[in-house]
Amino acid sequence: MIDSFEKSGTKIMTGAMLKGVTEAGALVEKDGRTLEIPADDVVISIGFRPVKSMAEEIRALGYEVIEIGDGEKVGNVMTSIWSAFDAAKGI
Ligand SMILES: Cc1cc2nc3c(=O)[nH]c(=O)nc-3n(C[C@H](O)[C@H](O)[C@H](O)COP(=O)(O)OP(=O)(O)OC[C@H]3O[C@@H](n4cnc5c(N)ncnc54)[C@H](O)[C@@H]3O)c2cc1C
Repeated sequence: MIDSFEKSGTKIMTGAMLKGVTEAGALVEKDGRTLEIPADDVVISIGFRPVKSMAEEIRALGYEVIEIGDGEKVGNVMTSIWSAFDAAKGI
């Protein structure tokens, strides 16, 4: 994918937030500044973060909670399977 982006001249911006899409292109906030990047098409690719609040709420009720998979740390199918395996072994 990265190779095809390079071949087609697709501009990649990381650490930036898409604020809007205009007729001219993308409005992007980066390092506290808003920039307008000329573009025909805009693709956003965002990651994930685990949400810890539910585990903490259940823990606060006095239950033991073992977080596994993406709830513990965002990864992939294999990291989820292994963390579930480790949790099951410890029960
Ligand atoms: C678009 C996309 C593509 C991906 N492609 C790949 C890939 O090609 N290969 C790879 O290895 N990994 C891939 N991943 C990552 C992989 O899908 C995850 O890392 C993995 O599914 C995490 O497993 P999990 O069991 O922790 O969570 P999930 O698979 O997200 O399972 C959590 C489950 O809990 C349910 N749930 C949530 N809240 C509640 C609630 N309150 N009560 C009851 N149920 C609830 C959800 O509906 C869901 O079914 C991809 C992820 C995405 C988003």
